[in-house]
Amino acid sequence: MPRYGGPEVLEYVSDHPQPVAGPDQVVVRVRASALNHLDLFIREGIPTLKLQLPHILGADVAGQVAEVGSDVTDLEVGERVVVNPGIACGACEYCAIGEDSLCVDYRIIGEHLPGGYAEYVAVPARNVARMPSDFPWETAAAAPLVYMTAWRLLISRARVRPGEDVLILGAGSGVSTAAIQIAKLAGCTVYATSSSDEKLAKAKGIGADVLVNYRTMPWSQAVWELTGRRGVDVVLDHVGEATFKDSVRALRRGGRLVSPGATTGPMVELDMRLLFWRQISILGSTMASRREFEEVLKLVFMGRLKPVVDKSFPLREARLAHEYLGRGEQFGKVVLTVD
Ligand SMILES: [Zn+2]
Repeated sequence: MPRYGGPEVLEYVSDHPQPVAGPDQVVVRVRASALNHLDLFIREGIPTLKLQLPHILGADVAGQVAEVGSDVTDLEVGERVVVNPGIACGACEYCAIGEDSLCVDYRIIGEHLPGGYAEYVAVPARNVARMPSDFPWETAAAAPLVYMTAWRLLISRARVRPGEDVLILGAGSGVSTAAIQIAKLAGCTVYATSSSDEKLAKAKGIGADVLVNYRTMPWSQAVWELTGRRGVDVVLDHVGEATFKDSVRALRRGGRLVSPGATTGPMVELDMRLLFWRQISILGSTMASRREFEEVLKLVFMGRLKPVVDKSFPLREARLAHEYLGRGEQFGKVVLTVD
């Protein structure tokens, strides 16, 4: 990516120098790298993020260890690994208590550092997790960012409990497909919204119990009625401006709204009377700690959580993949494969 802009700024370069492993790093030969909505924001340019261009996108990586740094003793060349895209400083007060994603110098591979849209990427050895030998590359690459995000969000932040009603907006997004499965595994009743009956049918296939098409009815009112005019315990809203007001309205008294992002815009309006009188909690969450990453990846590799791969593109067609993700027609993850 030599400059910011639309999908057309993505360029496939065949002569990029191969990274070298620092003492505490490994170089991973990338076999698959998943797209995230974050990639589109970075490509378009985030005002507060000053990157050295050209930049290589890609937070999610699965591949084989190709080179091991001099201080790395527990990994060998050829091992199959997935990468935790979050890099913490290891020294601040938040790192000291294991809260990686609160780190004052938290960085994400593919955002602040060169990422996985490449044949090789250098990452800290402590960020890689071994994957089972028979696990597909694309499915593994589809897991890290969205599963760690959805896990922290629902399990650590919203603290969902068996029997609770959890509403997940925009059933087709990567975080949503992960969250539907995690909420289901936690014993919750899962409500999912989408504008597409086809996506809702797929959401049902991965565990959603109650389906709401927001094209055919106002969804917060539908949720209100479907819960017997009580509201849901938890809303996962990653949409932001377009949905926040309705998300608050869909909550029961004492309910929690949890957000890992705001794809339609960050500025929202909140009626404070609803906040205090209904005793609502609004919780932010981003990425996850190393422990949360390991907890959720374990469930992925056991097959208890199943990353949904919507479509794969070869690396040189990254532009087409960005156009496809930009249209929002996917259900689950869009993945780049590297031969
Ligand atoms: Zn730190």
